[in-house]
Amino acid sequence: MAADAKKTDTILSDVLGGARLTEEEAEYLLSLRDADIWKAAAAADTLREKKCGDAVTYVRNMNIHVTNICKNRCGLCAFGRKESDADAFFYDGEVLRERVQKARNEHVSEVCYLSGIHPSFTIESYENIIRMFHEEIPGIHIHGCSPDEILFAAERSGISTKEALIRLKAAGLNSVQGTAAEILDDGVRHVICEKKLSSADWCRIIREAASLGFKSTATIMYGSIETNAQRAHHMGIIRGLQDETGVFTEMVPLAFLHKNTPLAKAGLVTHGSFGREDLLMTAVLRLFFDNIDNIQVPWTKIGKKMAAVCLCAGGNDLG
Ligand code: SF4
Repeated sequence: MAADAKKTDTILSDVLGGARLTEEEAEYLLSLRDADIWKAAAAADTLREKKCGDAVTYVRNMNIHVTNICKNRCGLCAFGRKESDADAFFYDGEVLRERVQKARNEHVSEVCYLSGIHPSFTIESYENIIRMFHEEIPGIHIHGCSPDEILFAAERSGISTKEALIRLKAAGLNSVQGTAAEILDDGVRHVICEKKLSSADWCRIIREAASLGFKSTATIMYGSIETNAQRAHHMGIIRGLQDETGVFTEMVPLAFLHKNTPLAKAGLVTHGSFGREDLLMTAVLRLFFDNIDNIQVPWTKIGKKMAAVCLCAGGNDLG
């Protein structure tokens, strides 16, 4: 889709005037090049200031990796391993407690359970880990359990996903991770994360989480094989879910890092997201999501310098 300066100006002036962007307009903005990129960034920055002011927010959190052994081993992921791999790890018992104690000593206010989906995990496995986190760090906020983990644990335990969510809440899970969304297009998912849950199941479980009073993050994984139209459609699905439930606290753009992924090894990708895409993604998320205030800038994915630039292009929250 070729950029056209007049069209860009009209869309940006409409959105600054309060109009809601369509998916087609978002697709168009994601394709911008040259000077138009800066126009989109400036418009997004204006909206950011209006909605969030000038303070950059962040959460003092620590990711706790319990295991990299994963049933999925997605094309997009360089982290997941088979149980038999030499560099597979699984921390439990006292070793895991010590890692959690380290988080406590760092005075974090949130721990993020971030791991592979171990093939032998059940709902009890997640409950036990969550309870142990609370034992070690009383009052901590626990953010974890993506819809894919919830579906897998529910199936392994012979219960519904809603029942799984009820049990996770009772164990002390405070908010649900909106990961595993990647791109909510089953054709793309078939290539980049074939064994993960379907788009429909992701949305269903997020709705169930919302009905139980959970909050969640929303994510988009961009920069692998998807088109701008598929990115924009993904954003449309998330915005619709937010209209319906108000469940999302922030939108998190996850730049695809291609090195050592099965997709790269298979020659299906030769690079991850480009800086231009990182900047435009931040700006377009700000312009598109009139119903989500926080647009995250994940510095661990795009680097500190790019993160600083994205904070001038609509981002307000440092992930
Ligand atoms: S992205 Fe998540 S589910 Fe997929 S292989 Fe990596 S750790 Fe496992």
